[in-house]
Parts: sequence; structure tokens; C-alpha cells
Amino acid sequence: MTQTEELLALAQRVLVPTYAPPALVPRRGAGSRLWDLDGTEYLDFTTGIAVNALGHAHPDVVRAITEQASRFSHTANIFFHEGHVRVAEKLVERSFGQRVFLTNSGTEAMEGALKLARRWFWKRGDARDGFVATQGSFHGRTMGAVSITGQTAYREGFGRMLEPVALVPYGDIDALATAVGPSTCAVVLEPIQANGGVNMPPPGYVAAVRKLCTERGVLFIVDEIQTGVGRTGRWFGYEHEGVTPDIMTLAKALGGGLPLGAMVTTDELAAVMDVGSHGTTFGGNPVACAAGLATLAVLERDHLVERVAERAPSFMSALRQLAQRHPVVRDVRGRGYLIGVELEGAAKHYEERCRHERLLVTTSGKNVLRILPPLLASDAELDECLGKLGRALA
Ligand SMILES: *Cc1c(COP(=O)(O)O)cnc(C)c1O
Repeated sequence: MTQTEELLALAQRVLVPTYAPPALVPRRGAGSRLWDLDGTEYLDFTTGIAVNALGHAHPDVVRAITEQASRFSHTANIFFHEGHVRVAEKLVERSFGQRVFLTNSGTEAMEGALKLARRWFWKRGDARDGFVATQGSFHGRTMGAVSITGQTAYREGFGRMLEPVALVPYGDIDALATAVGPSTCAVVLEPIQANGGVNMPPPGYVAAVRKLCTERGVLFIVDEIQTGVGRTGRWFGYEHEGVTPDIMTLAKALGGGLPLGAMVTTDELAAVMDVGSHGTTFGGNPVACAAGLATLAVLERDHLVERVAERAPSFMSALRQLAQRHPVVRDVRGRGYLIGVELEGAAKHYEERCRHERLLVTTSGKNVLRILPPLLASDAELDECLGKLGRALA
């Protein structure tokens, strides 16, 4: 038995069977590269599901983690350590937001957003507590987050969901306008449905939702957990339509590979929370914050968000050219480095073929390959991806 086989057999025996990974156990990574236990080298364009914006083991991130861990790794929020406050400062500087609540994950940031929305109305003596979200969405796995997730597979068997929630077709502003009623406290939306098939809304949709929310006096929550922190070629996905939400959730790339999420909001909304009304033991962990700060600093120093905006159009058009040579491809879509290749047939099959070509990509929905280059991928690596993908689709 190889070490890989042994580990996977053990995993089968001791883990709750929620995952079905391939026979690849990572040993080490560097930038866009990942090596498995057998020493095989891969081009890793899964980026840990849009987390590793700087690829693996970026020296600045490694240094920040090591330095912080050698000083202290945890204080809880009994004290504010510098990293916690600096991450919040950076997000306020970069976004519409004025106030930040740090979490350990995207789901928790979402949960905080839902609670904040309800509490905003509660403080004003208004009993409305409903949410409108979209079919095909993904917002996380807690009971609250899964209740606004519009995919049955994630809800099945878990009993009664949070209520009331209306799920409307994504991109359909009329359906949304009908669903928003007197009991609605917030509309929740991803700027691009990253998990549900890399679904792009029609142009103008996000701005139209903002306008509708303002007119109806309901809050607008944007889930930027996957689209945020530069992935789409802007710092945040909402910027593409020149509007701002009331609440934004972040995670994934924010912590540079360590667990860090954020709920970002305005002064006015944040004011409805009191000391003790919401909290977390680990959220804003010092080591995660150090990794996050180092990541944000490199994104700024190396102009990586601008770099994505510059390079993405030619990468996308190269993918479209490739698609024309391969009839199995139905559509290529996305924005920046969040790209979906819709296929005739199961994406899992092509994901596996890509792996045989030493290219790691993930899937989104049933028949979409999701390509998520690190934001610092070189031109040569993007070309390499095209070559490998072409062979996998042939
Ligand atoms: C990943 C993701 C989440 C959930 O984040 P976790 O960190 O896995 O809890 C929520 N919304 C979107 C859009 C995501 O991509």
C-alpha cells in the first residue's frame, strides 16, 4: 500500500463521509504549483476554492504567520490585538464599509449579516424578519446560511429552515420585485453565483436590486465571499455596477489561506449591535489576521487586482477560442479569474481528465468546470492551463 492509499483508506474509515476527494494527497505547494506525496507536480488552479489568491506558501504570508505565531496565537476578543484592528481598517479603506466584524468563515459572516438585518428592524420596532434570496445560490452551511441557499442538495434532510425565505430566479428583477414584501428585511445576493454554476446575472441586475431595496426600504446584503478581494478584477464584485450594498460578507481569499471572514457594514447599521449581542471566540484570530494583512499588502504592492483586470480578457478569449475547437464546450463565462466552462456532460469527468494532464481545477454545479487561477499566475502558467485543458477536452 502506498502512503496515499493508506491515508485515503484511513479517511474512509474515520471521517464523516461528506467529501469525495481524488487519490491525491498534497505534500507541498509553491505559488501556482502543488506536489503530491508521490512527487507529482500539478498546476493548481483550484486555489483551494478561490482562497489562495497568492498561491501556496507565499514568502510574505509565511513570514507573517511565523512571526505572529511566535508572539501569540490567540487572545479571544477579550483584548483587541493590532492585527484585528488593522484588517478592519484595511477593509474600511478599500470598500463602501465603515464597520467590520471578523469571523472564521464565510458561513459565519453570512450568519452575522442575517442577524444584523433582523436586529436593524427590531431596534426600530419593526417585526419584519424575512429574506429574499435566489435559486442556485450558495451562502454556507449553518441553518441560517443554508436557509437562504437555493440548492436542495444542501437543505435536504435538515428539517425546518429559517423562515420566511423566498427564493427567486437569479437575474430576474421582476420576480424579485414581486417577492419583496412587507415582511422582507433583506435581499441577499452573490454578484456572480460562484458555486451554482458560475452564473452571471444580466448587466444592470445588481444595480437594479440595489435600487429596488432602497425604494422598498429593505437591506441589501451582498455575498462577496468568493467574488471579493480581487477575484473579479475589482476589489469587490459590486463595484462593477457602481453601487454599494448595506452589508457585505467576505472570507475565502481574505485570510491568505487561514480561516478569516468578515461582515462589513455601515456606521448606521453597526450601531444596532451592542456589547455582547454578537461574538465569536476565534473570529479575528491573530495568526489569521497576520496572514490576511500580509495578503492584502501583497495584493496592493504588486497591483494584483489591476493585473487580473488586465489579463483576464485575453485569457477569457483564449478559452473561448479553445472552446470553438472542442464541441463538448457549451459556454465559457465569468469575470476576472472566476471562470466557468460549461460542458456537455458531467464536469467531474473532465476535472479528472484535467488532473491526468496535471492541471487541478474544480467544478461548479453539475456540468461546469470552475477555473480559479491565483491572482499572481504568470502568463506562462495561464498558457500552460490552456494547453492542458485543451488536451483534457480532446
Ligand atoms: C464559500 C462560500 C460561502 C461559505 O463560506 P465558508 O467559509 O465555506 O463557510 C458562502 N458564500 C459563498 C459565495 C461562498 O463561495
